[in-house]
Amino acid sequence: MTTKGYYGNWGGAFIPEVLHETFKQLNLAFEQAKGDPTFWQEYKELMSTYSCRPTPLTCADNLSDHFGGGRIYIKREDLNHTGAHKANNVMGQGLLVKRMGKKRVIAETGAGQHGVATATMAAKFGLACTIYMGEEDVMRQRPNVFWMEKMGATVVPVTSGSKTLKDAINEAFRDWVSSMDDTHYVMGTVCGPHPFPEMVAWFQSIIGLEARKQIINGFGKLPARVYACVGGGSNAMGIFQGFMDDKDVELVGVEAGGHGLESGEHAARLAGIDSSAGVAQGYKTMFLQNDDGQMRDTHSVAAGLDYVGVSPILTDLWEKGRVRFESATDKEVMAALDLTMKKEGIIPALESSHAFVQAFKEAGDLATDQALIINMSGRGDKDIFTIAHAFNDPSWKEFIRKKGEEYATD
Ligand SMILES: *Cc1c(COP(=O)(O)O)cnc(C)c1O
Repeated sequence: MTTKGYYGNWGGAFIPEVLHETFKQLNLAFEQAKGDPTFWQEYKELMSTYSCRPTPLTCADNLSDHFGGGRIYIKREDLNHTGAHKANNVMGQGLLVKRMGKKRVIAETGAGQHGVATATMAAKFGLACTIYMGEEDVMRQRPNVFWMEKMGATVVPVTSGSKTLKDAINEAFRDWVSSMDDTHYVMGTVCGPHPFPEMVAWFQSIIGLEARKQIINGFGKLPARVYACVGGGSNAMGIFQGFMDDKDVELVGVEAGGHGLESGEHAARLAGIDSSAGVAQGYKTMFLQNDDGQMRDTHSVAAGLDYVGVSPILTDLWEKGRVRFESATDKEVMAALDLTMKKEGIIPALESSHAFVQAFKEAGDLATDQALIINMSGRGDKDIFTIAHAFNDPSWKEFIRKKGEEYATD
């Protein structure tokens, strides 16, 4: 990073004038926390007693034998409290809120996962909590709304615009402008204005720090490749940071291919063919937008990957060639999920399953004395209805590859 908050050509902090003081305070608190080794110690302690850190690195022997190439290891972020890597970020920001002396947190959520994680953190730290959620999403994600409310959060259904995530983001910012003295905005991923991308990436780096030690202990050397799904990019940045300086470790980000890149119904910003540079939601990155800069509707079977922007840090790493980007279609995701359940007794979230798809396509290319790591960002329990529905549609079955067969793509 050269200029503060920029990663090559990407990032920045495009914020309204009234929020400048708040961001100054946030930057200061973050810089102080980063420079204070007791803060990271406190964070690690919290995550080991309240969540499940260090999360295990599981060797998937049956899948490895099935594909007959490199050993497949799975980093188990699903075993975190609330079932995904999101806990790493929200609990870290909770500790920062305590340092800043603020009493209230707000967040926006689409599928509800970040809302539940934030409400959990607020309950644990005794903070007031308001979650903005598009009215459409409130109806679609009833169980998550129920738990947020039971944990004491106020869920505000947003009725403007398309009544989904991007409208909820606008409402949350509106709230913050009038409440910033006592309120912190809990950003859910490595996006948004500086310092959020750097801050969220820092908390999530705990994944990669653990994984690097674990693979050396368990396998005796570094992996050849590391795979992670990319929505905003926080779980990917989390595991990638553990291997960033290991030039021989290839880093692979997998975006939502939806119904296929040609269909236009996907959320592939960096692996795709129809994104462009833009500034929105406070930062500069590659967005899925039309010629007028209006955000497009995106599609993915995985709600957590269904987002128009992507981390400016990842866009820079993509431009520099450090991270390779691929995409997985909805159908490929169902096939990978099915195989993982049958072979390992593990249920990855639909989001995480995107990383499994790409790893499965490439595992056979590696030698048996090489390893790959898949970051399993979360557990699939939340996806039960989507998965049940998809498995009633037999068309996904043709995508299951047997040993030696080619993996079909859309
Ligand atoms: C939210 C979510 C994601 C996407 O977010 P990133 O910031 O890209 O990590 C991926 N997997 C799961 C399980 C999620 O809940």
